[in-house]
Amino acid sequence: MKLAAVGSVAFDAIETPFGKTDKIVGGAGTYISLASSFFVNHQSLISVVGGDFPKPFLELLKSRGIDISGVQVKENEKTFFWSGKYHTDLNSRDTLITELNVLGDFEPMVPDVAQQAEFLMLGNLSPAVQLSVIKQMANRPKLIAMDTMNFWMDIALEDLKETLKHIDVLIINDEEARQLSGIYSLRKAADVIRALGPKILIIKKGEHGALLFHEKNVFYAPALPLEEVFDPTGAGDTFAGGFMGYLAAAPKLDFDTMKRAIIAGSALASFCVEKFGTERLLEITAQDLNERMQAFVTLSTFQLEA
Ligand code: AMP
Repeated sequence: MKLAAVGSVAFDAIETPFGKTDKIVGGAGTYISLASSFFVNHQSLISVVGGDFPKPFLELLKSRGIDISGVQVKENEKTFFWSGKYHTDLNSRDTLITELNVLGDFEPMVPDVAQQAEFLMLGNLSPAVQLSVIKQMANRPKLIAMDTMNFWMDIALEDLKETLKHIDVLIINDEEARQLSGIYSLRKAADVIRALGPKILIIKKGEHGALLFHEKNVFYAPALPLEEVFDPTGAGDTFAGGFMGYLAAAPKLDFDTMKRAIIAGSALASFCVEKFGTERLLEITAQDLNERMQAFVTLSTFQLEA
């Protein structure tokens, strides 16, 4: 098994300026695994759902090469539920409801098949839970990446700093990078954050792309200027899943490979936002993805005049 991921598998109810959904399947773990399934055909998802979660969706994950033996099903409890409403510019949203349900006392159990994974993606959960997953690995994975958010910086900063010592790649947005470092300049913030543990830092800037800080190098990946953004939910998780899936399938882990991995993540995220929930990710093909990665090359390549 190349890749393991931990993250929520959820019901979401989403409202955007273009419409609203009833409870649909979402969750960071769902988006991460679906995105990485474009690159790896055998991976493990570690999560928890309640008895109300649709079994056919778990079967669908399995059909995409996602081992779900690490997804605990608590028959007598309810699945985590999140509801959010986006503002007109789609760059910000309000959380309307968070019902933790099964996630409230989630103790991830990394199944035997996943304990040897070479790549580990820690979706946004409490830093203590993320660390407990790292500790269950039989061997230190080649690469551990992690997502987090300002909520954990506010209420669990010490736990977060401890977990950061054990990972290789931190994936956060610009606002979170500024909060974590206390510094406005992202370049300086990157140095401060990398001194906390992760050698590699990715700072997402929403519709303005993402920055990769790797040793002394910086790479900037644009976001595709899409004609329509329908629902941004899960874009960050899809980005992270695409990034890790690409790396897990790649022969090397050097800076150039990381650049391509960022483009892979960005391309998948650009699909994710075109429809509600996971809908678009479930309908695109490998060829659609290749074409979109090529569009990123076209968008950002130029030659200086001689
Ligand atoms: P993103 O849009 O990338 O921030 O991710 C949105 C996904 O994160 C949704 O599908 C939610 O179900 C999930 N989510 C929201 N809040 C939490 C939380 N507190 N813990 C775990 N997952 C969450």
